[in-house]
Amino acid sequence: MIRAYLDHVGVAVSDLDASLRLFRDALGLHVEASEEVGSQRVRATFLPMGPSSLELLEATAADSPIARFVESRGPGMHHLALRVDDIRAALAALEARGVRLIDRQPRPGAEGAEVAFIHPSATHGVLVELKQPAVRVPRFLTAEPLALGDLELVSLSDGFIHLDGGAMFGVVPRTLWASKIPPDDRHRIPLGMRPLLIRGEQNVLIDAGCGDKMDAKSADIYGLERAYHLDHSLAEAGFSAEDIDIVVASHLHFDHVGGFTSRDRQGRLVPRFPRARYIAHRQEWMDATHPHERNRASYLQDNVVPLQEAGVLTVVDDEAEIVPGVAFRRSGGHTPHHQVIMIRSGGQTAVFTADMYPTTAHIPDPWMTGYDLLPVQSLEFKRAFAREAIEGEYLIFFEHEPSMAAGRLREQGGRRHVERVR
Ligand SMILES: [Zn+2]
Ligand SMILES: [Zn+2]
Repeated sequence: MIRAYLDHVGVAVSDLDASLRLFRDALGLHVEASEEVGSQRVRATFLPMGPSSLELLEATAADSPIARFVESRGPGMHHLALRVDDIRAALAALEARGVRLIDRQPRPGAEGAEVAFIHPSATHGVLVELKQPAVRVPRFLTAEPLALGDLELVSLSDGFIHLDGGAMFGVVPRTLWASKIPPDDRHRIPLGMRPLLIRGEQNVLIDAGCGDKMDAKSADIYGLERAYHLDHSLAEAGFSAEDIDIVVASHLHFDHVGGFTSRDRQGRLVPRFPRARYIAHRQEWMDATHPHERNRASYLQDNVVPLQEAGVLTVVDDEAEIVPGVAFRRSGGHTPHHQVIMIRSGGQTAVFTADMYPTTAHIPDPWMTGYDLLPVQSLEFKRAFAREAIEGEYLIFFEHEPSMAAGRLREQGGRRHVERVR
């Protein structure tokens, strides 16, 4: 039997900007992505609403089916798209029932999906699209605060990046990690970039995603998805760049501190948070500004040198307290001076684990990234940390997890899992 779910409602628009003023600006939907579907001469813009989305369709040529639709009927509802697991089986089943089809074989649709249309004469005037989505890890965005004692913690988003799945799991065999985060056709897995805002007497931002300085070639290699990025996320939380007092680096890899600097109108690199002091670990700073062949691709000078030049950098040592209750703790491993950030208030503990637990799939002690320079050090830290986190019921923030922002580590019958909090 076919099981179909509502994937999206397609709406033909004649003026995309005017439509966005309603759906995005007035109704608060967020725009996930725009994509041109060449075969249909149409640009599709998706606005997710829970498990379904609104798809705004704009013709890119006069002979596009959407242009003809708008010409004869005006803008409006165009089709319903139903998600199915196996589109070929669904088409065969419909044909066997004598249902008239526009497409007897699926064709490529937006976002790597396969799609096919049922003929309107068989659907009582409603154009119905069947869609089998590309295997895709659910993307989770949030800017909703969590309370921790006197502090408010807001997991933000700078969008998503794609890194080689093998590199993200080191010696773990693909057959094991691929079932947790399926790779795309370029062997990459989607990873969130989730800076953390700590709101107390001062506003502290930990890490800042990869920012907007990446050139088009690198953006393609890393599959950057930043239709929704840190500025949007900060605004959603009621903040702007000017409100940040302190910016802290877990370590200085580009996917964590690319957002520390940006270009001004003259093209000069400047601190992205104009009022903020930036804090980094002294030795991590030394390593980042003196890279070698093994870490050069991760340490980009444009992200760090302008901070020193602008005089906004403070380097600190192990265990440094950033503001009361918030302190560095050296995990090492990933980089020799990689820090996790311990946050304590009202008898509770939260931890920003950065690349120590990049995703929830990295919970098993030996599951660490291939980028880790000192894997045995990672292992030792993780072993001790996990015990502590389970016993202390730590609230753990996962910076790169695509589908979750924070959770608690639990252990039952010797097996560990993450209980989602957000
Ligand atoms: Zn890193
Ligand atoms: Zn990272």
